[in-house]
Amino acid sequence: MSKILTFAELKAGVVRNVSFETIAAAKQIDENAEIVAVVFGNDGTENAANKMIQYGSDRAITVTDEKLKNYTPDAFTQAAIAVIEKENPTGIVLGHTSVGRNLAPRIASKLGSGLVSDITEIEGSGKDGLFIRPIYSGKAFEKKKIENGLLFVTIRPNNFTLQEADKNRSGDVTELDNIVIKDLRTVITEVIRKSSEGVDLAEAKIIIAGGRGLKSEEGFKPLYELADTLGAAVGASRGACDAGYCDYSLQIGQTGKVVTPDLYIACGISGAIQHLAGMSHSKVIVAINKDPEAQIFNIADYGIVGDALEIVPKLNETIKKMKE
Ligand code: FAD
Repeated sequence: MSKILTFAELKAGVVRNVSFETIAAAKQIDENAEIVAVVFGNDGTENAANKMIQYGSDRAITVTDEKLKNYTPDAFTQAAIAVIEKENPTGIVLGHTSVGRNLAPRIASKLGSGLVSDITEIEGSGKDGLFIRPIYSGKAFEKKKIENGLLFVTIRPNNFTLQEADKNRSGDVTELDNIVIKDLRTVITEVIRKSSEGVDLAEAKIIIAGGRGLKSEEGFKPLYELADTLGAAVGASRGACDAGYCDYSLQIGQTGKVVTPDLYIACGISGAIQHLAGMSHSKVIVAINKDPEAQIFNIADYGIVGDALEIVPKLNETIKKMKE
């Protein structure tokens, strides 16, 4: 019988949405496969495993170890290889997140297997399935087929529709307690979380992004206010990050995060190709820019020509009133 491992990713003990999406993708890859969730962590792994089962995994394997509290390449690769050797799966799915992007190639290289990364769609299934991924900064798509070996992919967040959680669904959760994690070259001694961390950018349904056009850190404030009103995340262009208006963790684009929200509002962003690489697959794009010739309008569904510093606060006020 075919078997697909789907890796759960925990953020502050909570399973990230993209992990549930890996289950949806696994079902598309092979609807007859047994789906086994894999959860690594220091505590809360059993709860997380049960969550994965509620979202459609048939059973789960947990590895609970102090060394797996935070992601480090060595520890997670060792644990993953141990689980894979035990389970001998026909497929593996990870989220194409910062962790997945780092971990998946390490696993593939240890296994001597292929890997199709950052897929956004699957056509067909099993060995005939085609994995679709954006290339050339999202300007084109390629379709890849894995004819032999492991069906190993990473999926871009927000592209595979989740099935609803079934709270009554249950399955076996097995703790693997005989895995030895050793010879770690990196150890995380402290994690400092920013107090401003709000909605996870990679998984946000709505993103309000600012560019150099906002002119200062102060110019970003209305974006945070609008994001609060809409339950959105704030993102940025590299121009804005380089200028010191916001933190690099907000950068979207070729060298930043890749996002696919339902709604992307670009404020004072010119629309350079490197920025589009990270957001052009958003479902609806709204651009606010002073320059009617700005490139961002070429991909926007709705465009507002004007001063973002005036428009964003007005938008916020109007939406707040509508919500009252
Ligand atoms: P600008 O290009 O300076 O645009 C500012 C825009 O704001 C203009 O269109 C202007 O008309 C408008 N504007 C000005 N005032 C206002 C106002 N008051 N109201 C409304 N609009 C206003 N960039 C990324 O974003 N992400 C990446 O990951 C990335 N990776 C890169 C990798 C490489 C290798 C290279 C070479 C570049 C990369 N860049 C990336 C940089 C990219 O090429 C652009 O320089 C950058 O995206 C520009 O940022 P911006 O649009 O905010 O600034």
